[in-house]
Amino acid sequence: MHPDSNAVLFGANIINNNGLVVFPTETVYGLGANALSAYACRKIYLTKERPADNPLIVHVSSLAMLHRITVGIDPEIESKLGEVWPGPVTLLFQKSDNIPDIVTANSPRVAVRMPDNPLALQLIEKSGVPIAAPSANISTRASITDSKYAIDELKDRVDLIYDSGPTKFGLESTILDLSGEVPTLLRAGSKTVEELEPIFGKIFVSEVARGTYESPVAITPGMKYKHYSPVKTLILVDENVFDEISVNSDLKGEVLMIGSTEHCKNSILDTFDLGSMGDLRTVAAKLFIAFRELDKRNERIGVIHPFPEYGYGLAIMNRIRKASSYKIQNLKDFEEKLSEIGS
Ligand code: AMP
Ligand code: MG
Repeated sequence: MHPDSNAVLFGANIINNNGLVVFPTETVYGLGANALSAYACRKIYLTKERPADNPLIVHVSSLAMLHRITVGIDPEIESKLGEVWPGPVTLLFQKSDNIPDIVTANSPRVAVRMPDNPLALQLIEKSGVPIAAPSANISTRASITDSKYAIDELKDRVDLIYDSGPTKFGLESTILDLSGEVPTLLRAGSKTVEELEPIFGKIFVSEVARGTYESPVAITPGMKYKHYSPVKTLILVDENVFDEISVNSDLKGEVLMIGSTEHCKNSILDTFDLGSMGDLRTVAAKLFIAFRELDKRNERIGVIHPFPEYGYGLAIMNRIRKASSYKIQNLKDFEEKLSEIGS
């Protein structure tokens, strides 16, 4: 689909006047501002209520633009960029003085990617500046994967929202640090480790990237916060516990079961079906929709089960761990937790 050129120019004009534009990428919606303007980027933090130590990803539309905001790119890495860009892969580079410190939360390194979405690319191109854009949700909430949620959450806070419907992946970009001896995954995302290893070699997947370890010292600062969450309580339970809960009629109207088709199909409680266990890309694309639907419905608690941790499953489990308030392994503990939370 070709973006309307007037709509692109309208957005570019806002970016050039230090305003805020919510725009689609292939991953999630971004809350964008001129990445060269500290003033504009400060508005991103205020609007999102984002902690000042959680840096922003900068989006570029060309390698020339990448060179304006970075110094000393390793030629070997540069030669591989065409294999992942445009696409859902964010890489860290030494920043140039063109990037204000607020963008990187004072880090000497800037996170950059080239999005694979025609509207996003043309918006950057027409603006003539790189666009800093974190996910367009308010801090701690689920990322915004459809413009209808952006309108719900941000219509009074920004200058423009592109109403472009659902995004392609519905899951954030993969963040990779290529500066050390071994490529290190900082955030699992829409490009899987399995897809990246043939390009960059064996990738180290830390516990932080899995979401199984809460680092007291932030490696990638965003990782230490509660993240990606519904407002309501989400509980992660083992698969067998999920099956037991889903046939307990006492919980009808109280608990929403969020799970794979295989686990939802026998449930007598209401379910949000994420798709088949065998199709993790679909599960990943529906996860944030499920969290937002939980918040809209009457049930006060969501229950979800784990997914296998390969392919998209790595990102799925990272998000579920970050989003869930409790991890429970047997029915008795679940029932105790439920009465503890109260009604
Ligand atoms: P979001 O754009 O909301 O999906 O979040 C961006 C993620 O990128 C956060 O987890 C940040 O901590 C991470 N990030 C952005 N810039 C940097 C950087 N310079 N160094 C390390 N991580 C970064
Ligand atoms: Mg985010």
